[in-house]
Amino acid sequence: MMIDFEKPNELIARMEQKIFCPERPDCKGKLYTGIDLGTANIVVTVLDENKQPVAGALQEARVVKDGLVVDFIGAINIVRKLVQQVEEKLSRSLEEAAVAIPPGTRAEDTRAIVNVVQAVGLEVTNVVDEPTAAATVLGIKDGAVVDIGGGTTGISILRDGHVIYVADEPTGGTHFSLVLAGAYNIGFEEAERLKRDPDKYDQVFPLVIPVIEKVADIINTHIAGRDAGPIFLVGGTACLEGIEKVISRYTGLPTVKPYNPLLVTPLGIAMHC
Ligand code: ATP
Repeated sequence: MMIDFEKPNELIARMEQKIFCPERPDCKGKLYTGIDLGTANIVVTVLDENKQPVAGALQEARVVKDGLVVDFIGAINIVRKLVQQVEEKLSRSLEEAAVAIPPGTRAEDTRAIVNVVQAVGLEVTNVVDEPTAAATVLGIKDGAVVDIGGGTTGISILRDGHVIYVADEPTGGTHFSLVLAGAYNIGFEEAERLKRDPDKYDQVFPLVIPVIEKVADIINTHIAGRDAGPIFLVGGTACLEGIEKVISRYTGLPTVKPYNPLLVTPLGIAMHC
């Protein structure tokens, strides 16, 4: 299936460059900031007044679990550190930010996420749901956005730009790493590194195919009979080369992913600031 991701891919690549390169852009005018508190990563993204990526910061963290803040002080400390990093890069202070929640998050859990961001001195301008943020970046209005993150797989069906169905199931990148840790008798962190090492791909991919099929089975369960359309993969686990082919084969649906799917939702959150 031909889906033109040229523009989203350019934006994502620019965001990636801003996160991982320490340049100091000279940027005036309004800033749009997004803060993504994930199970595996916390990401701060900043766009300039033309909604172009201008700065960002990312840290792996275990302070949030599937939209639930499990270590409030730890979350505040990391967000504060990342915000300071970005402020130093920009030589400007951030005043406001949007945050995201997985669809179906309870009001009290949403409040905890907002509280973390307010605790570092930022005004929260918007709470956007993750699939809407992702769809904004991808420029799509219809289809199934499947977010394979650290702890869970989120399935959201969009129609005419509206999220009409959501589900979140507990299978994500953590399970891929656990399978590798068990198979090679190594620790979890080593398994994480192995999973992401392109040079070790042949040791990784065959072993995680059953987990990918489990994810595909979850997708099938939730989209059966819903005329969901194409599947758009986002989230860090979607970075795994070839995952889209296994999911497409298993579900029988066209399955595509953009460049660096891990950064799609964080970038989209800033667009909704
Ligand atoms: P959740 O959505 O469950 O709250 P999160 O938003 O923090 O979690 P992401 O940042 O989207 O999750 O993805 C993190 C997961 O992606 C981790 O399990 C990590 O190991 C995995 N991951 C990151 N890069 C790669 C890669 N190149 N190949 C395979 N997996 C990867």
